[in-house]
Amino acid sequence: RVPVSALLQRPADAVGRPQQAAHPRIPLPADLFAPERRNSRGIEFGERAALDRLLADVKAEAADLKSITDATPDQANAAVAAARAGFASWSRAPAGARAAALEQAAHLLECRGARFITLLQSEGGKTLDDALSELREAADFCRYYAAQGRKLFGSDAAMPGPTGESNALSLRGRGVFVAISPWNFPLAIFLGQVTAALMAGNSVVAKPAEQTPRIAHEAVALLHEAGIPRSALHLVTGDGRIGAVLTAHQDIAGVVFTGSTEVARSINRTLAGKDGPIVPLIAETGGINAMIADATALPEQVADDVVTSAFRSAGQRCSALRLLFVQEDVADRTIEMIAGAARELKIGDPSDVATHVGPVIDTEAKQRLDAHIARMKREARLHFAGQAPEGCFVAPHIFELKEAGQLTEEVFGPILHVVRYRAENLARVLQAIERTGYGLTLGVHSRIDDTVEAIIDRVHVGNIYVNRNMIGAVVGVQPFGGNGLSGTGPKAGGPHYLARFATEQTVTINT
Ligand code: GLU
Repeated sequence: RVPVSALLQRPADAVGRPQQAAHPRIPLPADLFAPERRNSRGIEFGERAALDRLLADVKAEAADLKSITDATPDQANAAVAAARAGFASWSRAPAGARAAALEQAAHLLECRGARFITLLQSEGGKTLDDALSELREAADFCRYYAAQGRKLFGSDAAMPGPTGESNALSLRGRGVFVAISPWNFPLAIFLGQVTAALMAGNSVVAKPAEQTPRIAHEAVALLHEAGIPRSALHLVTGDGRIGAVLTAHQDIAGVVFTGSTEVARSINRTLAGKDGPIVPLIAETGGINAMIADATALPEQVADDVVTSAFRSAGQRCSALRLLFVQEDVADRTIEMIAGAARELKIGDPSDVATHVGPVIDTEAKQRLDAHIARMKREARLHFAGQAPEGCFVAPHIFELKEAGQLTEEVFGPILHVVRYRAENLARVLQAIERTGYGLTLGVHSRIDDTVEAIIDRVHVGNIYVNRNMIGAVVGVQPFGGNGLSGTGPKAGGPHYLARFATEQTVTINT
């Protein structure tokens, strides 16, 4: 067995290094996962032989996938009750002990890379590149929240006060947090939510997307093995109906949710309608994410970054590019180059290393995307349509719209919409972006500093990427989350995130 670490080494590191013979489960040197070692182009694979061995491991793992049954409402309610009981001791565990369990979880994740890649591919349809970067992100979340948690929860903050009085501020867990996570990052977002809530001293009931329960099941087993008490972390599988049972429960103290705007709203309504304590919601939802490319941008870079942003992960990222505004003067050439780059993409079996675009998550998603493509064929100009094999695949498409308003909702797949604009109408482009109501990601390609600054100043979106692609936020480097229809604002993988899961207490003592 070859640890996934072998693949994460940069090629330069691998050159001339003697290969370790069948060395099982070696922990990764921590710095291989350090954010400074990333770039915006994603992962570079190490030596080919190591890759082949990992793939053999991945294949061997595929044989024993368990099936998971849905929880009943009674089981969901029982999980909340058990988590409530578990809160008492977990919330009193020292921050250092909670952090150590998360660090151990990161270590175990890396040691079991092949297993999780198998699950991400078979259950989530992830390409190898996407599965590896998701595994790395999941480990990053564990380590980052552990480090942040030691700082924030490790000791009380002394506050100033008059002589004869001491004042201290502390953060503590709220109670039972319900974590509802999406299928598109079934490991990284699942673990990100759960570990943030746990690190802040909450007990957790986790409800993964109904499409990806097996990954969640193994991730929870791994956290238990890493030292999170069973009483502090509970898994409840099922669809939105089970999520609704959990959010309606009287004894929950918070909800963290990633998914659609519509479901976030419905959770919000449920929480607002309950008697008892006011329960906060941390929500990260979707976006009609735009990129603006003006005539000074480098066309090859634009093409490369657009294809990555719109089509990687089959467009199934909240951060993905949906709406490209390209300056009229360079529009024909830019669209042609994007189509040329898209033509090179290989669509198909995600376990094939050569594949760039894997399947969409299920037939329902495919039908929705196919219907959108059919509508666009009637209402917009088709510039490019890729070739998809039979099955749950949707080929990349590029449509040109007359105006941005033709795209009224988030389309969660590999479909790019392009709108031309004249330089003097940039303000209208910014208005159109604002009018979507979303505020998650924005890409800008321009070499004019004043233009870039004006756009940054004007547009209220959570993550802005200038002269690069606009996906793949790195934990601790690009804290991620949006505003407006895109979410309630907290940034996953950022320094302020954990505090959102906690209550604050000020103690004043007359000495
Ligand atoms: N954080 C991911 C990215 O930057 C997107 C997360 C999501 O799709 O919810 O691409």
